[in-house]
Amino acid sequence: MSSLGPMEETPDELSSLTKQLDDIEAAMERLDQGTYGRCQGCGTQFDASALERNPVVELCVNCAQTRNNG
Ligand SMILES: [Zn+2]
Repeated sequence: MSSLGPMEETPDELSSLTKQLDDIEAAMERLDQGTYGRCQGCGTQFDASALERNPVVELCVNCAQTRNNG
């Protein structure tokens, strides 16, 4: 086994971390603007369980599907 310490992150992991930071920053911006907890596509209010699963969720299931399909 080679020594893979916790500080030796691969670029993939780093970019994933950067993405997470971006998501959190965007969520905090929405907190400022009073739109946190709402779908950025249709404005639907997320329920508590959805926010529990993903506190920085941006799109409801419908909008996420639409975005993925188109
Ligand atoms: Zn939506």
